[in-house]
Amino acid sequence: MDHFLYRDGRLHAEDVPLAEIAAEVGTPFYVYSTATLTRHFRLFDEALDGMEHLVCYAMKAASNQAIIKTLAELGAGMDVVSGGEYTRAKAAGVPGDRIVFSGVGKTRDEMRMALEGGIRQFNVESEAEMAALDEVAQGLGLRAPITVRVNPDVDAKTHAKIATGKSENKFGIPISRARDVYALAAGMPGLEVVGIDVHIGSQITELEPYRLAYEKVAELTEALREDGHDIHRLDLGGGLGIPYERANSAPPLPVEYGQLIKETLGHLGCEIEIEPGRLVAGNAGLLVSRVIYVKAGEGRDFLILDAAMNDLIRPAMYDAWHDIVPLAEPAAGIDQRAYDIVGPVCESGDTFAKARMMPPLIEGDLVAFRSAGAYGAVMSSEYNTRPLVPEVLVHEHQFAVIRARPTFDEMIKRDTIPEWL
Ligand SMILES: *Cc1c(COP(=O)(O)O)cnc(C)c1O
Repeated sequence: MDHFLYRDGRLHAEDVPLAEIAAEVGTPFYVYSTATLTRHFRLFDEALDGMEHLVCYAMKAASNQAIIKTLAELGAGMDVVSGGEYTRAKAAGVPGDRIVFSGVGKTRDEMRMALEGGIRQFNVESEAEMAALDEVAQGLGLRAPITVRVNPDVDAKTHAKIATGKSENKFGIPISRARDVYALAAGMPGLEVVGIDVHIGSQITELEPYRLAYEKVAELTEALREDGHDIHRLDLGGGLGIPYERANSAPPLPVEYGQLIKETLGHLGCEIEIEPGRLVAGNAGLLVSRVIYVKAGEGRDFLILDAAMNDLIRPAMYDAWHDIVPLAEPAAGIDQRAYDIVGPVCESGDTFAKARMMPPLIEGDLVAFRSAGAYGAVMSSEYNTRPLVPEVLVHEHQFAVIRARPTFDEMIKRDTIPEWL
């Protein structure tokens, strides 16, 4: 459920007609609903009721300061994957003890930054990283709290580019080697083992892969405790999918996911962390765009939009589907027609949808890509010297630009011309 609904024939974000934002901000732009972000965070938080837990929003999904602050004020922790994200989380007021640091390639500089600024835990992914963290922490006279990310070798049944829990993926340590790696960690004076981490992928639309992974984590918890490790925290990753194609998908609900966690891991008495990104932000955001031209093609027409692959890369990169709807509510029973929906960038990959059934549209009409709040704005670029797409946050009847569209001057001034030219 989200807060983007037609009212009086116009698509709204909460109480604001989107066409009004378009008139003020120009297109294309991303828009987020505070009420939807809040609702999704609370669904996860409530799903873990009765267990000690922290929901750490995976901020790579959408990392605008205003979004992070909205979630942090609800009590969210943050899952960060770079020094930049760590700095963003701190800048939005998230305390270090609510930040977990994930990722296969943390640099020593990033480790130092997080240790000095405060960190809940590092999710370590290799022996090499472990040795580096031990050295950095000892250099600072500190002990770094760690979990080891284990790779449970389960098939998350998702797109190959976002599956992370199979043994052939670059992530984590094979669960079969975990006991040896924990023994190694226990011998490093700069490290303090606090738990286990697992994250099997993204846009996961069934619970079974989670069940398989979490059963393996439960077994491992008991084995590691027998080996004398103090395992009291389980970070279970993110990855729960969202219904991109509303007409025919129904991924599991956070409450069902929470129930599964209780069933598979509840008996261990561990503090639980989860790291949802997509399910918090995905359906809380739209990309709004305008039809520049309708071009007659052979067999069907093209809708040429002012948004392009540089603004929303998911269709080009993951063959992703986004529902696309007009801002003006189509009359009931209107005849639909098939369009290829494309952007202006000079690449055939700049195609959002092929043969998509839509109500008839004309030049100047506004459309919205649904479910664009996660991995949308954060993956945008200025390819073709198209200005970075702005972001807007709605709260009830108010809206604010939370990242402005840069001017061409601002964009060009970031380059510098060397003296010899
Ligand atoms: C990307 C990622 C997440 C979030 O995944 P979603 O599918 O957005 O929920 C969580 N944890 C880690 C380690 C990640 O890399």
